[in-house]
Amino acid sequence: MTHTQTFAALTAAIGVALAATTAQAANPADPYLSTSEFQQCLDSLQNSSDFRGVDSFTFNRYRPSEPDPSVISSLNYQPEFEKDVWDYLSSLVDKQRVEDGIKAKQEMASTLRRIEAQYGVKAEDVLGVWGVESDFGQTLGKNDLFQSLATLSCFDRRQSYFRREYANALKIVQQGDIAASDMTGSWAGAFGQTQFMPGTFLDLAVDFDGDGRRDLVNSKPDALASTANFLAKKGYRSGEPWGYEVNIPAGYWGSNSRTDKKSMSYWRDKGFTLVDGRPLPYNLDQAGLLLPAGLEGPAFLVGKNFDAFYSYNASENYALAIAHLSDLIAKGDSSKTDFIRAWPTDDPGISRLQAKEIQQALINNGYDIGNVDGIIGDNTRKAIQQYQTSKSVFPADGRAGQKFYRLITGNTQGTQAASAPAARGGVWQGSRQSQSSPSTANDTMAQLIEQQQGYRRVTNPDGTIRLVRMDKGQ
Ligand code: CA
Repeated sequence: MTHTQTFAALTAAIGVALAATTAQAANPADPYLSTSEFQQCLDSLQNSSDFRGVDSFTFNRYRPSEPDPSVISSLNYQPEFEKDVWDYLSSLVDKQRVEDGIKAKQEMASTLRRIEAQYGVKAEDVLGVWGVESDFGQTLGKNDLFQSLATLSCFDRRQSYFRREYANALKIVQQGDIAASDMTGSWAGAFGQTQFMPGTFLDLAVDFDGDGRRDLVNSKPDALASTANFLAKKGYRSGEPWGYEVNIPAGYWGSNSRTDKKSMSYWRDKGFTLVDGRPLPYNLDQAGLLLPAGLEGPAFLVGKNFDAFYSYNASENYALAIAHLSDLIAKGDSSKTDFIRAWPTDDPGISRLQAKEIQQALINNGYDIGNVDGIIGDNTRKAIQQYQTSKSVFPADGRAGQKFYRLITGNTQGTQAASAPAARGGVWQGSRQSQSSPSTANDTMAQLIEQQQGYRRVTNPDGTIRLVRMDKGQ
């Protein structure tokens, strides 16, 4: 969802989880909001300068009768559990989403070619944004935009920002671009297949199917071209990759900031290579070093196109999800969704399908977690914590990783499931499809996973992490 930087970071971290939170009506935890105060506020808004471009017919026709207190809860939501970057990435870029992206690329091939020719943005980059923003148009948000934005205009923090967006939303309908009945979206007002905020829509949406309307809800060509236009306007450099996964040279000490851009010669001189050991190509104008999990995890050199992804939601992890999804769609292979270098964990994240299986298993075990939606929110995490406690799992951290997946489902996943031993006592007995990627020192985890060995993390004297098989006893 795109909007101004002030607000973006908040929704970046929690946007997906909130979709489920706000769908529940009349939550007793929601604040009381006075309807008469709300109506007085709307009266004064109508006459304010922000609404000068909105005619009174439009304003009154879509004027909500009541505020929606759930959006104020969402505005002030503080996640009770921190989310690791590998959990975030594994649910946003899973096998299903890559498969859907490969399919979308075929279905929209001619449109994507025209978009590439006109905006200079690579098809897979447009698809990466589309997949992460709205699951290729499948998840648009269900909040009534006028009621949400009117409520946020009249209560709590950031009212001036939301007043402008409320006026912008009314202008979109007034101009005839989108039907009022289609103006539904996130609690914060992002809507359509691109999850644009209304202000972004007015600035950057384009009509690409030629019907004279910019319809980012119903027209895929409009939505994809608007995404490309957004990226182009945010500094996208035609023909450049977003960046790539790299190897950090031993003993590296220096810049580790995405925004501290250096030339490729600089990084070559420092000893950086592509993650497979090949020399860095000179196809990026400049690049910054991105270390989402510190020196222990995957490392990336990222250029201006990554920054364009970043401007979509002001979150580096979010931009990395777009970048990674783009690469996997380009590769046309959904069998492996990890980076080459493993995350510094012995308990990787789960896919959305696995999240649903966990939720179903919790319900089967008598935990009231609401709907099976594949979103591990606070309710699911509390139930996981209780289940862990009941099984004497330590730590009972409420986290849904691969270990917990195996514990509660008894599922060892993959083709070897029938012959694989069941999960035992918190030791992860994983199995995955064979990987054809070249073997490097960083493949240790993948190899252990393949061999279905339990393992533990050992910190070397130099601070790096290695994984040791449980049966080696080192
Ligand atoms: Ca159109």
